[in-house]
Amino acid sequence: MIEKAMIASIGDPILRRKTLEVKINKILSSKVKSTIKKLISTMRKLNGAGLAANQIFYNLRICVIELENNKRYKHLPNIPLTVLINPKITVLNKNSTFNSYEGCLSVPNLRGIVKRFTNIKVDYYDENKKFHSKEISGFAAVVYQHEIDHLDGILFTDKVSDNKSLVSYSNYLKYHEKIYLRSIKKNFYKKI
Ligand SMILES: [Zn+2]
Repeated sequence: MIEKAMIASIGDPILRRKTLEVKINKILSSKVKSTIKKLISTMRKLNGAGLAANQIFYNLRICVIELENNKRYKHLPNIPLTVLINPKITVLNKNSTFNSYEGCLSVPNLRGIVKRFTNIKVDYYDENKKFHSKEISGFAAVVYQHEIDHLDGILFTDKVSDNKSLVSYSNYLKYHEKIYLRSIKKNFYKKI
């Protein structure tokens, strides 16, 4: 029996298409509700920090983010569950960046360094049709950019500027994680 993959992986055309905006009057529809439910359950099942609808084969501009005592991303600052519908990013400070050692559920067994902004504004609707315009800073901004990139058909591998930073997950743990976590602490826990 061929089992349908739970997650689209790199090479699948759905990951490269810009997703369709959700019509505002459809936000409370059962189709959108069930997509959100599936995004949350899949993200939690696979211990992702976030998940975009096209990663689970829905061509809709919706993603979810949650980082709470995550096994794959231990020691990272917590982000409460957030549902983003039609999100749009504005960079607030182009000079404030962080070299993020990223991985992705759609790019199995690979990590690489991507330069991300750490001070952004995100406009979006939530699952209750409420509009938000929120300033996001610190490590959370990195996660938001990764997920919203998915909705524009962009993978983190497109933004890795030095290909020599690409490593397998086991080598990331072996050679890079310690240094990376130190850099997270230095950049985002300055007050501690
Ligand atoms: Zn991803």
